Amino acid sequence: MQQPENLQTTTAPVEDSVWQLNTGSNKIHAKRLAGPFRTFKWLTASLWLFIFLGPYLRWGDRQAVLFDIPGRQFHIFGLTIYPYDIWVLTFVLAFFAMLLVMLTVLAGRVFCGYFCFQTVWTDLFSWIEARLEGPPQTRIALDAAPWNLNKLGIKVSKHTLWLLISMLTGVSFAAWFTDAYQLWHDFFTLQAHTSAWIVLLMFTGGTYLFAGFMREQVCFWLCPYARIQAVLYDQDTLLPTYDEARGEPRTKLDRMAENQRVGCVDCDQCVVVCPTGIDIREGSQIGCITCGLCIDACDSVMDKIHQPHGLIRYGSMNEFCGDKLNRWYQRPQVLVSTAIVLLSVLATTYGLNSITEAELSIVPNRQPMFVVMSDGGIQNSYRLRVFNKSKTDNHYRIEVDGFPDISVKGNERPLLVNHGRMASISLFVKIPREQLLEEISPLTFRIVNTTHNSPAIEYRSLFIAPQHRRNQHD
Ligand code: SF4
Ligand code: SF4
Repeated sequence: MQQPENLQTTTAPVEDSVWQLNTGSNKIHAKRLAGPFRTFKWLTASLWLFIFLGPYLRWGDRQAVLFDIPGRQFHIFGLTIYPYDIWVLTFVLAFFAMLLVMLTVLAGRVFCGYFCFQTVWTDLFSWIEARLEGPPQTRIALDAAPWNLNKLGIKVSKHTLWLLISMLTGVSFAAWFTDAYQLWHDFFTLQAHTSAWIVLLMFTGGTYLFAGFMREQVCFWLCPYARIQAVLYDQDTLLPTYDEARGEPRTKLDRMAENQRVGCVDCDQCVVVCPTGIDIREGSQIGCITCGLCIDACDSVMDKIHQPHGLIRYGSMNEFCGDKLNRWYQRPQVLVSTAIVLLSVLATTYGLNSITEAELSIVPNRQPMFVVMSDGGIQNSYRLRVFNKSKTDNHYRIEVDGFPDISVKGNERPLLVNHGRMASISLFVKIPREQLLEEISPLTFRIVNTTHNSPAIEYRSLFIAPQHRRNQHD
């Protein structure tokens, strides 16, 4: 790579010349060119349509995916997750976090380049800008031109479209948390809840600001992921890279001597298409979102001058330096992140399968710890709570196990628990003194659904007896 002689000293002015600091003082008007990576970018970006369309899917009589915060329950098609089972979602989050790490180790910031909402919305906004204002030079001229009716019309149209998309983004986000159809009705009749208006305002303002104005500056200066990517790369990470050995010295076509080897023709097409304003020929840089658009641009130039593709291509440092290439299974970062991804899948599957239809909890009453009854038996009291997570109202029979002659008061009739609700009762458990060999003994509580045939749910608690019983036994 071409580097300043004193790069090792890493002084600020040297970094400036190498890293091409983009502080946003010059607006980037990237040129839009067709190509395989551009097409792929549209395809991956289109996956975000699920954000806009997803809330309108129905499942039975409700929204298919609904994060019902006031009701403290998440509905994901046939599955309902209550706060008791929220731990399962931590494995889902771990899965996505480690998938991101794995992808970054393998292929750099592909998430940024093809799927990140900041990149996708910015791309959409700049596409609208290009449709209304024209190619980069025309846009620059329009910005510099004095205001007239034509300029006003174009600018108003652009900002109106940007604001409409921003508002639609806000409504769509809010619609995952409440009934989508009702939300539209509430917004139009000005009856929406205050929190819905706040979400709408935040997302409209945020999208308009970040995608319309800040654009690549978010990737450069605000995004924490951009900061940590460098520690995830290794010598085998695939990144869009300029083949310096083939490209240098750069020579304009019209200045090229006859029979001169054709390298980089210094057409700057790779620079003008870059959405973050980078010249990839200066080496890999922190602002590169690995979108591959410079590859499309350079390949199209190579097509025109009948040269092979690949002057800029996805490649690793080891490949370009001619060093030994490591397979994915020879790279510790890939192995560790893949293992965590697989473990997260297993843990999520286990978690989803272990979600029970009801939640049982027992709170022992420890004031007093126990009561010595007139017949000599020892009694403990407990508060039993049952949360019904199923979709039907159920009756639960309550059983207590652990001693041969146990007697229970409070469980004479099955406990009715409405769906999505909790019910609680007090239980008094008495055990004959002679059966209590320890001061503290295990006790098992069990609820059996008598409305539907489903597995019993158990909870292990403790029974406290007077100390002298154990001493007598010893
Ligand atoms: S340098 Fe190339 S890959 Fe990197 S952001 Fe610019 S266009 Fe995309
Ligand atoms: S597009 Fe290719 S040929 Fe043109 S300046 Fe960039 S690297 Fe050189």
